[in-house]
Amino acid sequence: MLAWNSPNTLIKAVKGTRDLLPPSTEVWNHVEAAARRIFRAYHYQEIRTPILEETQLFARGVGEETDIVTKEMYTFTDRDKEATSLTLRPENTASVIRAYIEHRLDQRPGVQKLYYIGPMFRRERAQKGRYRQFYQIGAEAIGSESPAVDAEVIEMVVEILKGVGLSGFQLLINSVGDANCRPQYVERLRQELKSVAPQMCGDCQRRADTNPLRVLDCKVEADQPIIEKLPHITDCLCDACRTHFDAVKRYLDDRGISYEVRPRLVRGLDYYMRTTFEVVHGSLGAQNSVLGGGRYDGLAESLGSKVHSPGIGFSIGEDRLVMSVEGDQPPSALDLFIAPLGDAALRHAAVMARDYRRAGLSVEIAEGKLKRSMELANKLGARFTLIVGDNEIAAGRYALKNMASGEQKEVTRDEIAAVLAATLS
Ligand SMILES: [Zn+2]
Ligand SMILES: [Zn+2]
Repeated sequence: MLAWNSPNTLIKAVKGTRDLLPPSTEVWNHVEAAARRIFRAYHYQEIRTPILEETQLFARGVGEETDIVTKEMYTFTDRDKEATSLTLRPENTASVIRAYIEHRLDQRPGVQKLYYIGPMFRRERAQKGRYRQFYQIGAEAIGSESPAVDAEVIEMVVEILKGVGLSGFQLLINSVGDANCRPQYVERLRQELKSVAPQMCGDCQRRADTNPLRVLDCKVEADQPIIEKLPHITDCLCDACRTHFDAVKRYLDDRGISYEVRPRLVRGLDYYMRTTFEVVHGSLGAQNSVLGGGRYDGLAESLGSKVHSPGIGFSIGEDRLVMSVEGDQPPSALDLFIAPLGDAALRHAAVMARDYRRAGLSVEIAEGKLKRSMELANKLGARFTLIVGDNEIAAGRYALKNMASGEQKEVTRDEIAAVLAATLS
């Protein structure tokens, strides 16, 4: 307890978390605005679920055997009589499906298309570009089994990535079968693993028996040649799953979306079935997955839904997405910097600033000497500066300077907003 009160201890952000500061937050907002614009175009609407959920939601919805549930969740006991076990959400699909069931969204017309943007929490090993509070942009389309929905979701993902300015990414897809054909594949995998598992890592040895599909997820380098030789799920699909997968590929071909079928793409979560997909990006090194998604037709039932509610969704790792577009120069956050000369001019400038702010411009008013003001305008990266002195006020004409070109223009008070708008668009 003493340490809590020590005034000399410098308090820092919790390990694995970070503060997002300007100008980086400009990039975050740009990414989120682009995503929201595209979600709207595809008729997705926002859902905001609580960050706290009962632990059993994730145990059931994500899978008891997953790394997320066994190693990475922030779980604690609440101070209520029942000592409820609560968890900071490690992902959002289970929460969205819980909300879907709880509020009977299946009663609403059409496929439910929901998106979310927000923080998730996983206690992962600390490494570059991995945060324990990280952000996801994701969406779920619930209420259809149609492969056309899969293709539309994948198309939307591609549009979002392009919309935020990401290029050079690669789309990987796969089908992981369903309750009809996957068990046979898993059994085949289990048989194959019997002879090779003893040479694999500890996790693989355990999973070879408990959950053989997870072996395909293993990232241990030495295990890769062994995994390469294991049978492919795409060779074991039943007719219904094969037809579904062929349709998804055909719809992607129609749209000119290029993809690669990656039979090892099984994803780490229990509830995925049929279509799975992932987007990787070269600039991020080994940890290069920008997003993952897939179909989860049995999830709602496993969370207690009486209604069959097939769905498909994805989540984009926003931290990584921002990292991969952050190299681009963010737009200046300041449109106009006004330098008033003296007290009367300051009062006049303040009213002008209010009017331009109402017109949607970002405006700052200087204090102090003109030379210092101009230096500050430069440092702040203002796009325009405006000098307001007694002479300017009397004449009704002001010197507006474009900071990028150095060009100076005499304008009236009413012309300023229009000149700026024309340059900024
Ligand atoms: Zn392994
Ligand atoms: Zn099947």
